[in-house]
Amino acid sequence: MSHIPSHDRYANPDLYRRCGRSGLKLPLLSLGLWHNFGGVDSMQNSRELVLRSFDQGITHFDLANNYGPPPGSAETTFSFIVREDLASHRDELIISTKAGYDMWEGPYGNFGSRKYLLASLDQSLLRMGLEYVDIFYSHRPDPETPIEETMGALDHAVRSGKALYAGISNYNATQTAKAAQVLRDLGTPCLIHQPKYNMFERAPEAGLLDILVREGIGGIAFTPLAQGMLTGRYLNGIPADSRAGHDPRFLKPDAITADKLERIRKLDALAKDRGQTLAQMALAWVLRQPGITSALIGASKVSQIDDNLGALKNLKFGSDELAAIDAILA
Ligand code: NDP
Repeated sequence: MSHIPSHDRYANPDLYRRCGRSGLKLPLLSLGLWHNFGGVDSMQNSRELVLRSFDQGITHFDLANNYGPPPGSAETTFSFIVREDLASHRDELIISTKAGYDMWEGPYGNFGSRKYLLASLDQSLLRMGLEYVDIFYSHRPDPETPIEETMGALDHAVRSGKALYAGISNYNATQTAKAAQVLRDLGTPCLIHQPKYNMFERAPEAGLLDILVREGIGGIAFTPLAQGMLTGRYLNGIPADSRAGHDPRFLKPDAITADKLERIRKLDALAKDRGQTLAQMALAWVLRQPGITSALIGASKVSQIDDNLGALKNLKFGSDELAAIDAILA
């Protein structure tokens, strides 16, 4: 039976923040479909994760052409959920996809050419059964393609009605400033940047976040929980059902070193002093930045989404708390 969404899903207006200087508001937490939505995963669990999010006001779902495994299958899973459960709510959803990493064989299946980006967007729309996506991203900068060509493809995607907004991901500060200028000149402002940002990955603090604020571009931080390390997940070993335990493609068990664990334990104690779980504190910490609009979480269980939404009850940090976190991370 088709899902009936919760009637009070928009009861908390504080859940939304304006994305840069655009007219679009995004939820403070967005759900990413990188893991747990592939053809190899449980469709029932994937469905519950999306519907639980939507029922709590999470309107933004982030995909990419290559999410799976196999590549493309997360978009197929998502199309099933939208068709079965959310078809009449399309106008309440912000759906993003991306192209940039390896997707198909040959010279036109990755990076940033117009040929690849526009063909990939057509394929994504077909897989998702959508007429348009809300945000289309260049997933990574291409050192060999002129930035004018890559941004021109994003502009074309928007002008052709296949995307409503343009975004970039994994661009450094200099590349972002250039991309923003090219897009502005084309008349399609850059809506959003998707950088990796969490307590263990602070590179965006060295210039990128300032550029986002200056340019009026929203920021959506990916892997804000460091793929689960900034939660209680690994405090007592590596659980079999955890990402490092069963799908170590991107989070290898040896990344969870004794040094990291010691820092995680100290952060966990600090979070407890704030009345939060470590996951909640890690999300609040990312969201403290004026350049960050939304924290882009992943989840393997519905209970994790509930836990993470609890972060919104305390987003403030005292300067002593921030200094203590800096000292632990130093
Ligand atoms: P997170 O850092 O939020 O890690 C999510 C994982 O952490 C979950 O799958 C779960 O792992 C664990 N977790 C989440 N909440 C809790 C909790 N409350 N308690 C305990 N464990 C928890 O993000 P992801 O690495 O999943 O990335 C999020 C999204 O970012 C992706 O889906 C994608 O949309 C985007 N992304 C973009 C990239 C880009 O290049 N633009 C690259 C990577 C990601 P477990 O399986 O162990 O339960």
